[in-house]
Amino acid sequence: MNLFDEGCKLAWKRIYIDKDRGIGNAYAEFGTIVHEIIKDYLQEKLLFFELPDIFLERFNKMQFLIPFGKGEMYKQAGLRYFRECNILPGFELLENEEEGRFLIGEHLHRGFADYVGTKYNDLYVIDFKTSKKYEGKDLGKKLRQLYFYSIPVREKYGKFPDILRFDFVRVGEEIEVPFNINKLQETKRWALKVINDIENETKFRPNNSNKFFCDHLCNHRMTCKYRSII
Ligand code: SF4
Repeated sequence: MNLFDEGCKLAWKRIYIDKDRGIGNAYAEFGTIVHEIIKDYLQEKLLFFELPDIFLERFNKMQFLIPFGKGEMYKQAGLRYFRECNILPGFELLENEEEGRFLIGEHLHRGFADYVGTKYNDLYVIDFKTSKKYEGKDLGKKLRQLYFYSIPVREKYGKFPDILRFDFVRVGEEIEVPFNINKLQETKRWALKVINDIENETKFRPNNSNKFFCDHLCNHRMTCKYRSII
């Protein structure tokens, strides 16, 4: 939804209407490696002493090169995280990447929360991030994802989460935000507005104003004729 609302409508159309997923990118690939290792660890398929080597093995086989010569920095950050293996100490896991279904208006959506768990008596919804730490308005937008996850969490556990949390793997920091019912309503209103905009959209114009996105993130960056106009 963010891609349609604030990013490039053409890129959104190619993925969700044309069903052409294009190609991945280095940041997404790095994120997938980290998430899969965390998942296997939480599900006790990997032991803590195996994590650094598994990470290194998968990092060295990455298909995409991390841009701007930052590959070594990413590698060291991943190694540091998995060597310390300090994944959510004191938390009790309830679920990890389980599918949650929820309605926005008449539209059924699916989400996969990285981690739902408790600490003391608080219920948490947590997402692991390999990006830099969110700040300012960016944080508010990123929290929409956790507010969506909180809808199936309530159906399953009988209450909304107490805390929404991002764990920033590369920087070793986290952000915790108390759940706010008004923010959930705001998020739902935003989603309904975007769905309405999508239903009324006919032109799906390209938006190449974000050069970094066009050059490094967009799934269709290798074939898009609008990218070079920037
Ligand atoms: S390369 Fe840029 S303009 Fe082209 S589809 Fe992707 S985001 Fe849109």
